[in-house]
Amino acid sequence: MSTDPFAAEALALDTADPLAAHRDAFVDAETPLVYFDGNSLGRPPRATAQRLSDFVTAEWGGRLIRGWDESWMELPFAIGDRLGAIALGAAAGQTVIGDSTTVLLYKLLRAALAERSTAEPARVEIVVGRDDFPTDRYLVEGIAAERGARVVWVEVDTSRGVDAERLRAAVGPRTAVVLLSHVSYRSGYLADAETLTRIAHEAGALVLWDLCHSAGSVPVELDAWDVDLAVGCTYKYLNGGPGAPAFAYVAARHQTTLAQPIQGWMGAADVFAMGPEYRPADGMRRFLSGTPPVLAMLAMQDTLDLIEDAGVAAIRAKSVALTEFALRVSDGILSPLGVSLASPRDPAERGGHLTLSHPTMRAVTARLWRQDVIPDYRDPDGLRIGLAPLSTSFTETLTGLVAVAEAVRAES
Ligand SMILES: *Cc1c(COP(=O)(O)O)cnc(C)c1O
Repeated sequence: MSTDPFAAEALALDTADPLAAHRDAFVDAETPLVYFDGNSLGRPPRATAQRLSDFVTAEWGGRLIRGWDESWMELPFAIGDRLGAIALGAAAGQTVIGDSTTVLLYKLLRAALAERSTAEPARVEIVVGRDDFPTDRYLVEGIAAERGARVVWVEVDTSRGVDAERLRAAVGPRTAVVLLSHVSYRSGYLADAETLTRIAHEAGALVLWDLCHSAGSVPVELDAWDVDLAVGCTYKYLNGGPGAPAFAYVAARHQTTLAQPIQGWMGAADVFAMGPEYRPADGMRRFLSGTPPVLAMLAMQDTLDLIEDAGVAAIRAKSVALTEFALRVSDGILSPLGVSLASPRDPAERGGHLTLSHPTMRAVTARLWRQDVIPDYRDPDGLRIGLAPLSTSFTETLTGLVAVAEAVRAES
């Protein structure tokens, strides 16, 4: 079919888009490159180059070790609170920027398991989705082996994720902690976090949410949903740059009872007392271990500025408009080629990305990367289309999907 009607629609949507100007805040937004991977490694805001350069010359170069006392020691908490307020629905004092997502998930899972199984020794089970992100599954296996716990796998349809019915069947009086993805990395399935949290609580378990694919793209209300614990990436929709450290949220009510396993000096009550034994600090500091990665947490602040300016509701509205438009285009030009949707059709059940399946997708992705159209490939045959609302336009989305159609035809 002709793509002309879609081109007119894309133009109209871009013209009416209240967030269109935010796209210009990103490096190279004016080039014809199509970026469908902002959910995996977000584009850098232009302001970030200046921020990093100023830091090297004025703060690191100018203040040297005095910088720790003057601001760097508090930076993980200051940025964490700002992130909490702007994108997580978290009141101050519950969010910190720390280690990688993997390490923070490990610490909080261990802490939650220890707390629950100490309170009630029968609680020795960790519940996790069979199709969760590899690091989440591997951590759970490792912790179960280390602590003599049992893994309860929730079987899921790979084009969806863990829903209320499946979670209800998996939890019970033996459950200590439930690890769930808010937005599935594969299908984009958006879990009903409030309902699933309630189900875990009714079973007497704590819940740890992985927010990697949701922070900065869908509304998150950790306090209102009564969430216990959460961890998420900052290099995806928060554009913190490759390897930017993750954030951890611990609800205030748990901060005095949870003890994390990597006891380092930065989590101690009096960091510079250098005392004979470890005593955990009050509040979020106790979840830190070693020296905070200050350089690596600078960049995300520029995207927090953009999110604050745009508002999460407007970001979600554009995200839904982008995935709905991509679906209409896919139904029009990709379905006739045998491409199928491996994501929820209902936008209320979908985050910011879509997965499209076809046997040629591995080769299609390699071909597209060579021509500056950059989606992601996920086994067995999924092309992942990440549509970061602040940096992606409707015209860019159409250009990319037309290129996907040409590539599928060429590889078929
Ligand atoms: C990207 C991602 C991670 C990555 O963890 P790292 O420690 O940053 O490598 C973990 N979980 C999910 C769901 C992800 O999407």
